[in-house]
Amino acid sequence: MSRPAPVILSFRRTFALLILLVVLPSAGLSGFGVVAIINERAAVEKRLEAAWRGTLADLSAEVPRALSSGRLEQWGDRLAFVLPDEQELSDPEGTFHVENGLVRTKDPQLAEALAALVPEAASLPTVPTVFSLATNGRTVMVAAERQGATVRGVRLSNIALDALLSDKAQGRATSEPVRFTLLPVPRDASSEGGIVNRLMSEVAQARQNALGPPVLAERVLSAPLQDFRLVVLPLGEDPVASASTRNRVVYGVLLGLFYLTLTFGVGYTARVLYREARLSRMKTDFVSLVSHELRTPLTSIRMFIETLALGRLKDPAQQQEVLDLLTKETERLSDLIERVLDWARIESGRKVYQRESLPVTNVVDVAVAAFRTQRHGDGMEFTVKVDDNLPHVEVDRVAVAGALLNLLQNAYKYSGPTNRRIALRAQRDGGYVNLSVEDNGVGIARKDRKRIFERFYRVDNLLTRKTEGSGLGLAISKRIVDAHGGRITVKSEPGQGSCFTLQLPVTRE
Ligand code: ADP
Repeated sequence: MSRPAPVILSFRRTFALLILLVVLPSAGLSGFGVVAIINERAAVEKRLEAAWRGTLADLSAEVPRALSSGRLEQWGDRLAFVLPDEQELSDPEGTFHVENGLVRTKDPQLAEALAALVPEAASLPTVPTVFSLATNGRTVMVAAERQGATVRGVRLSNIALDALLSDKAQGRATSEPVRFTLLPVPRDASSEGGIVNRLMSEVAQARQNALGPPVLAERVLSAPLQDFRLVVLPLGEDPVASASTRNRVVYGVLLGLFYLTLTFGVGYTARVLYREARLSRMKTDFVSLVSHELRTPLTSIRMFIETLALGRLKDPAQQQEVLDLLTKETERLSDLIERVLDWARIESGRKVYQRESLPVTNVVDVAVAAFRTQRHGDGMEFTVKVDDNLPHVEVDRVAVAGALLNLLQNAYKYSGPTNRRIALRAQRDGGYVNLSVEDNGVGIARKDRKRIFERFYRVDNLLTRKTEGSGLGLAISKRIVDAHGGRITVKSEPGQGSCFTLQLPVTRE
């Protein structure tokens, strides 16, 4: 039986190739996906940035235009910077004057920032001008004008500037809720210091990015407002984070699902295909086995008939013996054919069971009578023990007796030639009646115990090879018992005999 091996081998090779063809591209695909997902945040940021670029360009042109139309007014003891629509942009505390190289203002920090302006005070325009100033750690926007040798001006209020921005931004389509604001341009410390400074500024920048609201897009204003940048900040949660988290989760779940189903599918298909391959091998074995089993009795039958036809046997006793052998061989033939037909009927679902409620002894008697007839005279110790008062079982008598007979025949076939002991017992076990057949035969190894109920399966050993059989007996018995709502079980150890049990459900009242 070494022929089927190449079939399984080539099947395995094809399957492995197929899996390889599926797994390699999918692994590549997933790899690309992971890289894409990792770069996703940058991509979303780019997309948002691109979406805002136009608006920022418009606004950063409009704001200086609006500011250039403002005027400075003396309001009591302070200055105010107002737009033509009377909107005030100045900070009430931010009035200042520059006179004779001196800065006058209530705000000491503003004074520090204005120090840079002193040398250039003489060259300032006489019309109100808005510009930015940056000194250590402070960036301000001021409106100023020169009147002769003095310069007067006022610091603009951040809140008022933001209000102006949101006025200008109104009516522009926005895909997500955002707010526009002016922020100082981060001072580039790298140009000013050594490595330590640079590192510090990078750390500070990273911290600011992590802590502050994420900037969706920004644009540095042009001179003279170059110390400020116009930025778009999201209102509420960070849309980049939520979009990229959602995509990551969706991708992760899909990837997990994909590999799970792939693994399951591969495992399942491999199992099914392997079973099919094994089954087809078993069927081939079965066909050669059956034809062999048919040929053997046919050969002897032909031989006996020839002997009788040639009239070689004069002695009536000898003639009787040959006739008995003929009967036995034909019985064996029809048994085998009956079994194959039985199996075909069960497999195709054409088998109909005639169930009736009857005493267990009816079933046992039929099987025992048939067994005794077949094996009469053969050396064995056969005991039958049926408990009293067993309940009725609702079964097809012929079918279940056939299953029991099969167990008895197996017990006989798979025991040594001498000292055979076979015991049949019927006893109650809860809602079942157990019919068990015990023998002192060769026994069954653990790995075979699970499989002997499969169709065409025969244990591969010397005794089985010498013994006639089709591998169908136990499969048929199991189908019959299953159809009755019962069970068939086996307890066995190699070399110590076996005990097969049919569990039949008791008739319900
Ligand atoms: P068959 O007897 O026609 O080969 P079965 O389906 O009845 O087919 O049995 C399947 C296999 O189980 C047998 O080939 C045999 O190896 C093993 N077997 C069945 N009954 C016994 C038993 N009582 N003792 C040992 N082996 C058994």
